[in-house]
Amino acid sequence: EVVKPTNFLRNIIESDLDKGTYAQRHWGGNPGDATHHQQGIVDPAKIRTRFPPEPNGYLHVGHAKSICLNFGLARDFDGVCHLRFDDTNPEKEDQEYVDSIIDAVKWLGFDWKDPDGHENLYFASNYFDFMYRAAVYLIEQGVAYVDEQSAEDMKANRGDFGRPGVNSPFRDRSVAENLARFAEMKDGKLPDGAAVLRAKIDMASPNINLRDPAIYRVRHAEHHNTGNTWCIYPMYTFAHPIEDALEHITHSICTLEFEDQRPFYDWLLDHLREGGLIAAPQPRQYEFSRLHLTYVITSKRKLKHLVDSGLLAGWDDPRMPTIVGLRRRGYTPESIRNFCERIGVTKDYAWIDYSTLEGCLREDLENKAHRAMVVLDPLKLELTNWAEVFGSADHVEPCSLPALPHAADGEAVPERHFTIGREVWIEREDFAEVPPKGYKRLFPGNKVRLKGGYVIECTGAEKDAEGNITKVLATVVPDTKSGTPGADSVKVKAAITWVGVQDGIEAEVRLYDRLFTDPQPDAGGKDYLALMNPDSLKTVTAYVEPSLKAARPDDKFQFERFGYFVADRKDHSADKPVFNRATGLKDSWGK
Ligand code: ATP
Ligand code: MG
Ligand code: MG
Repeated sequence: EVVKPTNFLRNIIESDLDKGTYAQRHWGGNPGDATHHQQGIVDPAKIRTRFPPEPNGYLHVGHAKSICLNFGLARDFDGVCHLRFDDTNPEKEDQEYVDSIIDAVKWLGFDWKDPDGHENLYFASNYFDFMYRAAVYLIEQGVAYVDEQSAEDMKANRGDFGRPGVNSPFRDRSVAENLARFAEMKDGKLPDGAAVLRAKIDMASPNINLRDPAIYRVRHAEHHNTGNTWCIYPMYTFAHPIEDALEHITHSICTLEFEDQRPFYDWLLDHLREGGLIAAPQPRQYEFSRLHLTYVITSKRKLKHLVDSGLLAGWDDPRMPTIVGLRRRGYTPESIRNFCERIGVTKDYAWIDYSTLEGCLREDLENKAHRAMVVLDPLKLELTNWAEVFGSADHVEPCSLPALPHAADGEAVPERHFTIGREVWIEREDFAEVPPKGYKRLFPGNKVRLKGGYVIECTGAEKDAEGNITKVLATVVPDTKSGTPGADSVKVKAAITWVGVQDGIEAEVRLYDRLFTDPQPDAGGKDYLALMNPDSLKTVTAYVEPSLKAARPDDKFQFERFGYFVADRKDHSADKPVFNRATGLKDSWGK
């Protein structure tokens, strides 16, 4: 078992478990309880966390951090993590986004099941009735009022840092008047923006979030779940603590921007608990710093722009930092989970190097991805003495190489098979008519090994009318086949990759590179669109070894010397192979 590095959240949970803070959570007692549990039973989950996305876009690598954190803590502490769609905004949220979020979390390897199998998948909009009741309760307690100031007055009277706010002229309305006005808001008698319900806390608070925050607004808009039932909608700051309480969340973990909201989170839940609307112990909020990854933007709005403008091929373009993009690029769930584990959880502002993410993929694929030889920039090489040595120009010799560096427990190292004949494809850069200093590959008079095949000696090259090399000429050195006794009889300084002309397969290979040229493409007001890498995708027609005939979409490979590649999930087929470069073999970032 892997020992997980500890972090401040794990420490908090361990301490809560030691103290038994959440040991006696009984279901029931909440008029709005969200779960299926029988009234009165003790929660079978030791802790409950939640991942609460808004279904307004595709999840990205930043969300993966939050997913791995919340689901990971639940898994490690015998708890359950809920998947909750935070759909309290009436804007049309798309089923496409809901589906893609469910897929992404499952693909990352998590589920939201109670020990009895019940699925904790919730929609915040299911709690609108309860939220309304909670708001009425606050009015009755004299701690909420309907404010009819204009938006400008409300903003001006809020004050700012170092300048206390000014009480609204509507602040001291009677409970009866507030109830009547709130009912009018609900009944559609007021237009959008005419009034808001505000919590009555303290207009002089140094925390601006406590200066009578708005908790309900009028919005005549259809909601994807509740239709036209409501024309008032709760504000996020009011809705979120209630969602947590109704689902009996114990540790509500969010990013640091919400730190200043925590006093209101507690204020609200304290009131509702005292009023018997929610049960004790109530959830508590904790904050961590969000993921900032170099060369990547995580703003949904900007990612949407890249898709809508056609700059990229879609949400799952392999250059997108979305989960579907990473998946199509060749990332595995393991590599992303390891990445999230490795970067840890803190409250510090820090940028993580993209190479850390790539390193996690290489580590995962190192002994999983079968090796293969491919030629990305093909040049033909003819072994001119082939017929003489083997008795026929059409003769082919079988060759093999290990498909993985190590054997799995109790198994042999898998092998891959291919053949060599009179003609092979080599990389154009592996031949030089006049070798630069230190060049060890093919040039007239030099010997190299065709990896897994024979030692050959270069004798020259053919050129077209413009002087471009069209074919390299060489002779095969007999009895030097790899794996035979004579293999070491001739010493060479280099072994080059190649593919047989007679059994190589033509394939489209998509060479992806970083999407931006700047490590922080949208920091400090920079124009990320001007910083896009014009060479983020280069497509080549390559030849790949015959073992890749068996590749199915999503299979990963190491193309020797070039990196890790994946058969494209969408476009690859046996008839028209398409491979994406996931990452190079070595770290090339920041160089
Ligand atoms: P945007 O503002 O671009 O719409 P969001 O953060 O509001 O993104 P949500 O769907 O609300 O998107 O996010 C769901 C959860 O994922 C939230 O709890 C949020 O804190 C977390 N999250 C989003 N981005 C990151 C990030 N870069 N690092 C860590 N957690 C993140
Ligand atoms: Mg958002
Ligand atoms: Mg959000």
